[in-house]
Amino acid sequence: MTEVRTRFAPSPTGFMHIGNLRTALYCYLYARHNNGKFILRIEDTDQQRQVENAVEVIYSTLKLAGLNHDEGPDVGGNCGPYIQSERREIYKKYAQELVDKGAAYYCFCGKERLESLTDDSGTRKYDKHCLHLSASEIKEKLSSGIPYVIRQNVPSGGTTTFKDHVYGEITVENKELHDNVLIKSDGLPTYNFANVVDDHLMQISHVFRGMEYLSSTPNYNLLYNAFGWEIPQYVHLPHIMKDKSRKLSKRHGDANFEDFYNKGYLPEAILNYVALLGWNPKTEQEKFSLKELVELFAIEGISKSSAIFDPVKLHWLNGLYIKEIPAQEFHKQALPYYENIKTQVDKTLLSSLLQSRIGAFSDIPEKIAFIDNFDNFDLSYFENKDAKTTLEMARQVLPAVLKALKEQQEWTNEAIFATYNAMTETLELKKKQLLWIIRIALTGALSTPCGASEMCVLIGRELTLQRLQKVLENLQN
Ligand code: GLU
Repeated sequence: MTEVRTRFAPSPTGFMHIGNLRTALYCYLYARHNNGKFILRIEDTDQQRQVENAVEVIYSTLKLAGLNHDEGPDVGGNCGPYIQSERREIYKKYAQELVDKGAAYYCFCGKERLESLTDDSGTRKYDKHCLHLSASEIKEKLSSGIPYVIRQNVPSGGTTTFKDHVYGEITVENKELHDNVLIKSDGLPTYNFANVVDDHLMQISHVFRGMEYLSSTPNYNLLYNAFGWEIPQYVHLPHIMKDKSRKLSKRHGDANFEDFYNKGYLPEAILNYVALLGWNPKTEQEKFSLKELVELFAIEGISKSSAIFDPVKLHWLNGLYIKEIPAQEFHKQALPYYENIKTQVDKTLLSSLLQSRIGAFSDIPEKIAFIDNFDNFDLSYFENKDAKTTLEMARQVLPAVLKALKEQQEWTNEAIFATYNAMTETLELKKKQLLWIIRIALTGALSTPCGASEMCVLIGRELTLQRLQKVLENLQN
């Protein structure tokens, strides 16, 4: 078997869309699973879409994700250059070869003529007008400097059949295919040409890419045949959808690696989630390390049907990863989110309370808002059906709590909890009732990441007593 060589071929758009990341991941997994090579190629032939630093975003994302490539612009390799804009002369040469073979032709048609070819449905199919120019006419137009493109000469009859590993055997009528532009008037190739030349010259064995390229694949195969080159194995990937009817858009802001990363999602969790978008590992397991993914990945598990991007599931999965971070490391990453807390709190304790309760670091501000939002909370929080508590109960119990905490010697979670336990007996209250009342009195919030005793330690003795005092005053009024 020939060596497995896959390539990730992003266009530098300035962000890494989730769909692109999935392509990169599958290319990586397939190459590593088969002891092959994973190649990075930058597809920057659309000069109008150039974005500054966009290539750096690609490098940094792959690095953060741990998807190390074996060949690429930054690491070199035998098939370079790996940036398409640096391969201009190569494409020219191969385009000329196709022209010489009759598989491509010069086209000098201007914008107006091309626009006139648009039919009622808005489709524009080139009518091979320039295919019929004589050699001397072409020479004359070239020497007089008329702008031109080079087009593929698709046969008008017959069919083209190919096999895709996900979508099966596909046959199209050649008459449905367009004479695609291969070389644009700026001398640069289109994707429709560059992908064929590069995948061949870079000896790519398996082409993984989005299914939007499925319909132009027959065009590419006609080019491979015209050159007499071997056609690579195709693995087209299903769409990733926002919901049942809308695709996740490629535009910035829909679903990008950077956005999730900046919100405090862990690269391992993002990758884990993305791996499962359209690929079924055929086990119940949902959490996979990159190493496990490499072991398990198989093209057979890729689904034909679209995958739905579910941010809630990603959040849940990320939470599993967050729980496993060493406590110190979690604390370090959480610290920036504590910067605006005004109340004096034990930040290490706060981190240990939060670690098992968040799905992403960006959840922290909302989870800790209660700390500073204490004043003027709604006293009706004391009335809770589930805990079976009433406002009257709070009025009766809190003075005793204040007294007990004033006398509390050891200010630790365990010792304070023991005090509460002892109180439930003397006050003839259920533990749940007492804890609800104290927690509300100290936090002023219905839901908090800490319990009634943890809160005392979090804000310290002085503030605990102050808060209780204040609540008692409010309850008297
Ligand atoms: N440059 C193309 C894109 O970013 C890549 C398509 C491919 O993988 O061949 O969509």
